[in-house]
Amino acid sequence: MALNYIYPDYELVRNYDRCINCRVCERQCANEAHEYLEEPKKLVCDDAKCVNCHRCAALCPTRAIKIIKSGSTYKENKNWSGKTINEIYRQAASGGVLLSSMGNPEDYPVYFDKIILNASQVTNPPIDPLREPMETRVSLGAKPQNIERDSSGRLKNNLPPRISLSMPVMFSAMSYGSVSYNAHESLARAAEAAGILYNTGEGGLHEDFYKYGRNTIVQVASGRFGVHIGYLNSGAAIEIKMGQGAKPGIGGHLPGTKIVGDISKARMIPEGSDAISPAPHHDIYSIEDLRQLVYSLKEATEYKKPVIVKIAAVHNVTAIASGIARSGADIIAIDGFRGGTGAAPTRIRDHVGIPIELALAGIDRRLRDEGIRDNVSVIAGGSIRSSADVVKAVALGADAVYIASAALIALGCHLCRSCHAGKCNWGIATQVPELVKRLNPDLGYERLFNLMNAWKHEIKEMMGGMGINSIESLKGNRLMLRGVGMNEKELEILGIKHAGE
Ligand code: SF4
Ligand code: SF4
Ligand code: SF4
Repeated sequence: MALNYIYPDYELVRNYDRCINCRVCERQCANEAHEYLEEPKKLVCDDAKCVNCHRCAALCPTRAIKIIKSGSTYKENKNWSGKTINEIYRQAASGGVLLSSMGNPEDYPVYFDKIILNASQVTNPPIDPLREPMETRVSLGAKPQNIERDSSGRLKNNLPPRISLSMPVMFSAMSYGSVSYNAHESLARAAEAAGILYNTGEGGLHEDFYKYGRNTIVQVASGRFGVHIGYLNSGAAIEIKMGQGAKPGIGGHLPGTKIVGDISKARMIPEGSDAISPAPHHDIYSIEDLRQLVYSLKEATEYKKPVIVKIAAVHNVTAIASGIARSGADIIAIDGFRGGTGAAPTRIRDHVGIPIELALAGIDRRLRDEGIRDNVSVIAGGSIRSSADVVKAVALGADAVYIASAALIALGCHLCRSCHAGKCNWGIATQVPELVKRLNPDLGYERLFNLMNAWKHEIKEMMGGMGINSIESLKGNRLMLRGVGMNEKELEILGIKHAGE
């Protein structure tokens, strides 16, 4: 038997005084970490199989289980952490690329946590959002270059196609296949109820969800899975995915084991075949090529849908955004390097890309400097965690934000970071029918809707505190921001002053 050098990261601790042998934990763990022994009639566990998803602990009726960080340590130092040593053991055993899920966990600065918001005190008094009207609606898309009148002097409606949101938040791309049918239904229904949009990701669209089209962004990625004219026409906007924050510069891979039943139908590929998205779009090698695709999609949908181009935040992101703004796209979506994903090579996820805050501020400034800011709207994504992050992103120049991990957490995700294994105990990142059933879409939709409502209230409160009654007045309003604990260069890129100035 091969030696397993790795000590489990977590320990399952069962309080046998509380355990009533109901075996709920055994049934709930798809990783088979709990096992009932007929003799001596008790549950035992295999810590090595546990991914710390908290399902068993949450559902144990007597609160008999807790999961703790393993106390076992290597003789670590700054250079050789236990994590680094374990990764080498894993690669030495498998010979393969390390895979991970969700966002970058490394210790890079989170700039949102170093930015604080202003509040009015004496002059320009605060506004009470419970008594005064507060406008959180936003409209995304290109603004008309000029006002035109017809021969009788009436204003011509030359507004390019746009999307309207009740608040500056949308659900980011998560494909049917990477997440379950019930997760998609929850997202679609919550988007409709909250007056925002969700995004199909690159997996095509299940026919059951065409009815949510007004609240749907349909994505066109390099694999072109499930893209046909009915699909393009079914959404309110079309997104070309050039890149993704969690894995900039590389393609995607959904294993054939997940391409089953309706997923194969929605993606228009045979059951069991791997869904491989190439790193580049094979017809796009320049901004001119991108422009061709933007206009092909507009032409195909009779110029009725705004086109979004999504890119990962990388070193030269401001120049790329400037090119996209000139390509005919209506909206640019930028995805920062803390963004989540169902599966990414660990090295790419943790070492490629830049923080969304710096990318966003840089793009907003460059588009303004070049006089083309009104050509496009900007969506920022990549680990927006709270309504405060939303407000800060808007003040840094975003028209709206994308959220994904926060939405999954609202659905019950416990950030165990094992989506790539396909055995999500919470019924989200899985296609195993018994696991999918665990996410009740009625409850999922309600929880997402609640989250959006709560955030909207908080956004209004923060706006009111700043004496602002319209989210549009906050856009790019860096006077409302101050930095703490940042150096001159960071403040310069963000375009904000230090606290106390
Ligand atoms: S769910 Fe809790 S009470 Fe039931 S067998 Fe497991 S540990 Fe014991
Ligand atoms: S993987 Fe989840 S359900 Fe299984 S033992 Fe660990 S915490 Fe419990
Ligand atoms: S979606 Fe599921 S598998 Fe993925 S991190 Fe969340 S709980 Fe874990």
